[in-house]
Amino acid sequence: MSWEMVIGLEIHVELQTESKVFCSCRAVFGAEPNTHVCPVCMGLPGALPVFNERVLHYAAKAGFALNGSVHHRSRFDRKNYFYPDLPKAYQISQFYQPICENGWLTVQTSVGEKKIGITRIHIEEDAGKLLHDEKNGTLLDMNRCGVPLIEIVSEPDIRSAEEAVAYLRKVRAILTYIGVSDCKMNEGSLRCDVNLSIHHPNEPFGVRTEMKNLNSFQSVERAIKAEYERQVAVLECGEEIVQETRRYDQKTGKTYSMRRKENSADYRYFPDPDLPEVVLTDEQMDEIRAEIPTLPDMRREAYMKNYSLSAYAAEQLTSERWLADYFEQAAGHAKSATSVANLLQGEVFAILSARAADAEKNGAPTPEGAVSLPISPENLAKLSDLLVEGRVNSSTGKKILSVMFVGDCDPEEYARRHALFAVSDDSTLRVAIEQTLGQNPDMAESYRRGKTTVERALMGKAMAATKGKADPERLSELLHKALESLTK
Ligand SMILES: [Zn+2]
Repeated sequence: MSWEMVIGLEIHVELQTESKVFCSCRAVFGAEPNTHVCPVCMGLPGALPVFNERVLHYAAKAGFALNGSVHHRSRFDRKNYFYPDLPKAYQISQFYQPICENGWLTVQTSVGEKKIGITRIHIEEDAGKLLHDEKNGTLLDMNRCGVPLIEIVSEPDIRSAEEAVAYLRKVRAILTYIGVSDCKMNEGSLRCDVNLSIHHPNEPFGVRTEMKNLNSFQSVERAIKAEYERQVAVLECGEEIVQETRRYDQKTGKTYSMRRKENSADYRYFPDPDLPEVVLTDEQMDEIRAEIPTLPDMRREAYMKNYSLSAYAAEQLTSERWLADYFEQAAGHAKSATSVANLLQGEVFAILSARAADAEKNGAPTPEGAVSLPISPENLAKLSDLLVEGRVNSSTGKKILSVMFVGDCDPEEYARRHALFAVSDDSTLRVAIEQTLGQNPDMAESYRRGKTTVERALMGKAMAATKGKADPERLSELLHKALESLTK
């Protein structure tokens, strides 16, 4: 019987507030180490936290956008544990009364739509960062101490790596649409912990392990596959899975045991005596709800209806707000929105992912959060029209697109200047065909004798004779006629 994986995700998202959650230090990424710190976020004795209201606002907004019940009253608890990057030896979090519970979202995967439950969303503070340096040993940067986070805990509803990535992408899409976080995985503003167990369907869940701080979609996917295979191997050998935290190593593609998993009792949670309960009034809730823009699912449905796109295509185009905005602008200028969608999802995504792969190879972080294309929507629409009208063929279209990526240019102008328009007038095409048949008499003879498979090779040669610019459909029609006439 096959083993089914059962996955729950815990996603930590840094909120894009000006200042930290319990002090007025600035919450910025990439500053000189230890320049945005004060007695509160360094955990000095006697310092008192003051809650940043903006954090409540953003967390509630995320709660509404993720279909959750946002509570009027929530409060903070201390989660006690020692770690070198946590100077207070406790983290301020929400355990007993989180800001939000019972949310959900839907994802589209290759097997269709699925609803995934969200158990809770709570507010907490981030820890500092340990920098491991060969020369100086381990250094501590406390700039990140006290940066506001929300933790989004899913139900164990996820059953495959594809679903996990789709869920993560959807959470990221929604949070960037509502503007509460930039969700840059390569800068750590969105991090994911994966809880995974395996079982036989309809039997109780197995013992789960946790993999912490995965920081790219790819590592989430690979870590899930590696841990699933490990657990299957362990159980098939008759051994037992141990509840523990494991580390996924990108280099070996395997997971390694780090420590036995703590239970919540180990953290000795108790209400933080320094922080009062936080309250959201009905009026505040209405204001926050009113700020929520059209979310990806609504745009997806509109695209399916207005542009006849498939659910999967529409999901991809709405996965990022900038991309959806871009698509809508380009589609507004183009004769065919479907052609713009195809161009974006085909050639444009291919170029973007090739660039990302190059960046990864060169050790640069994967640009997970690309926020724009170097091509104006108007020019992409023009290229789409040239393709739709058959004025350039698809291989020429690809060439022009790669030029546009380097320096945004008017594709029509470029095609004119470089004589790239598709050749579709019959007399020119016939000349190319006669030339081809004249230069390849053996192949023409083979065709005449019934070996019709040479037609494809001749088509390639005739296309080359037009320098790749022929309208392929018309060229193929005329070539076929010319070959058939040989057999008569
Ligand atoms: Zn501070």
